[in-house]
Amino acid sequence: MSPQVSYKAELVGVLGHPVAENPTIVMQEAAFQALNLDWRYLTIEVLPDDLAAAIQGVRAFNMQGINLTIPHKVAVLEHLDEVASDARLMGAVNTVRREGDKLIGENTDGKGFIQSLHLDAETDPAGKHVVILGAGGAARAIGIELALAGTEIITIVNRTESRGKALVNLLNQETNAKANFVSWKNPYLLPSGTDILVNATSIGLYPDITAKPKIDYESIGPEMIVCDVIPNPPRTPFLQEAEARGAKTLDGLGMLVYQGAIGFEMWTGYKAPVEVMHNSLSATFNL
Ligand code: NDP
Repeated sequence: MSPQVSYKAELVGVLGHPVAENPTIVMQEAAFQALNLDWRYLTIEVLPDDLAAAIQGVRAFNMQGINLTIPHKVAVLEHLDEVASDARLMGAVNTVRREGDKLIGENTDGKGFIQSLHLDAETDPAGKHVVILGAGGAARAIGIELALAGTEIITIVNRTESRGKALVNLLNQETNAKANFVSWKNPYLLPSGTDILVNATSIGLYPDITAKPKIDYESIGPEMIVCDVIPNPPRTPFLQEAEARGAKTLDGLGMLVYQGAIGFEMWTGYKAPVEVMHNSLSATFNL
């Protein structure tokens, strides 16, 4: 018998606009190579009006899954067969996996954050008081997964009141967490008893990498865990201020790697080589 030959790879990828600077291909391709899997990750530019056709393409090409980035994370919901309950609460999907003929929406952003807390900071958020700066997509994903993981008190601090209050209402109505809203008055003073502080705003994002959230940094203590969602460069001025006060810090690169690792595992069924993925992104970011 002649050996079986197959030149057909399994396909996954990301749909976005603009998408050219999305680095996910780097860590997913590194993971496929490390596990010797014949899989490819495609970075695909899709305009908002073309999303429905693009999802048909995902089906027609029998792709094993897809990531969604700006501006498709919310709009994609109506094109899927099922949406996981946490992603439905968030109203946003960043990862689609295939189950037979069905496309199922998931959101791995908050899960990646929780995994980073568990594995890198060795912290269980259950019973804790978490302060989240921001109320956008990242804050929603993190807030909902924290609440589902048993976080007791969640304080949402946001500049735009309506957005912050909407997230607080969602958390109070749909989860067991006790959520409260604080309108962001500069500089924000952390309440006593804060266990974990998260910057889930886009402050510090390239190219404005010297910017930092306006909080009273003296209210950070060594007993706290301070986290940032900004992945590049990961050692943000916000985290440097926290380090200087003795707090344990978690960067956004870890969260980015874990959310990708969870997607990798959903798609391939294999355990993700997290260190390989982390190193590949660090090299790309020139760290
Ligand atoms: P959104 O645009 O949905 O939300 C941005 C948030 O930041 C809002 O709460 C906004 O407040 C706040 N904000 C922005 N600028 C300021 C400012 N100058 N002062 C006070 N608040 C401000 O963005 P996302 O939530 O989708 O993304 C936020 C960040 O998270 C991005 O940098 C993104 O790269 C990162 N991210 C990282 C991930 C990771 O894996 N590491 C995963 C997903 C996102 P307001 O409501 O008042 O406008």
